[in-house]
Amino acid sequence: MQKSRHYLYTETLIKRILPDDYEVSSIQQEFYRLEAGLSGEVKLKQALSDYFFKTEYHIIYNFECINENGFSHQIDAILITPFFVLIFEVKQLSGALFYKPGQHEFFRIHNDKRENFRNPLDQVYRHQLFLEQCLRKWQINIPVYFAVVIANFQATLDASLDKFPIFHISGVPSFIENLYCTTSKTNANIDVIFAKLNQLYNPLPPRRFISPNRLRKGVLCKQCNFENTMYYHYGLFICNFCNLKSRSALFETFYHYRTLISEKITNQQFREFFGIQSIQAASKLLVRLGLERHGTKKGTYYIIPEDILQWEERRPRKARIK
Ligand SMILES: [Zn+2]
Repeated sequence: MQKSRHYLYTETLIKRILPDDYEVSSIQQEFYRLEAGLSGEVKLKQALSDYFFKTEYHIIYNFECINENGFSHQIDAILITPFFVLIFEVKQLSGALFYKPGQHEFFRIHNDKRENFRNPLDQVYRHQLFLEQCLRKWQINIPVYFAVVIANFQATLDASLDKFPIFHISGVPSFIENLYCTTSKTNANIDVIFAKLNQLYNPLPPRRFISPNRLRKGVLCKQCNFENTMYYHYGLFICNFCNLKSRSALFETFYHYRTLISEKITNQQFREFFGIQSIQAASKLLVRLGLERHGTKKGTYYIIPEDILQWEERRPRKARIK
């Protein structure tokens, strides 16, 4: 499952935000929501993987792009068949869900409390209009439908939602079956639609940015739930609390730096963030790692690659100099 940049940013942020920061609990709560959203998407993926498609198909999960007006679209899943295109919006809502269609008002009652929500039907309708417009522009004729899928089986859907394509995840197969029955095969080439959408795909940046001075510095011990700082000793990072000796902590910290601050890092920034005093030791480490180096003398910086976490398995190699 492709995780959004916002998810990765928030996931890393909760490990790094200073414990007394005024936003700690709101960031933590946001991460719980993102995790719930992701688990809903995983459930949809399972339901679709278990379904026997009657035709060839493509599915794109977590599609993100910016439209011509400069606004973003984040679509949980797009199913492309030769008969139709179907957009899924997954919701992990609990409680009893209600709808006032005339007013486009969507609300739930949970623990005797009434709460209004952003209308998911309108949200996904907006995606539908966008995809229809793209297909027109590409001169592809195929109908676009949408469905709002409730991933929490304990949620109850009121009769006011009866006329709308919103249902529990278990209803996905019959909804697709029904679309196959009520539509007919088009001349659309699903490989072309798939390729065009992939061209349009543009991962959205995180929805927030926290200034680096609100972050904890140092190489933090995973085994201690990122609460304790490790120190550098002959190529390894060591935790004084649990005695963990780790080489991978270096790569994790690079990943944190890249996700939260920048993909570029200078020797000085490296020493400050990783808590290494000696310039020589830092230089040696950076060179031995083989990070791509740019600039000269004081302007030298290194690029932390996107797959830095996988570098752990690699052997140290000679520096690449560009
Ligand atoms: Zn530890």
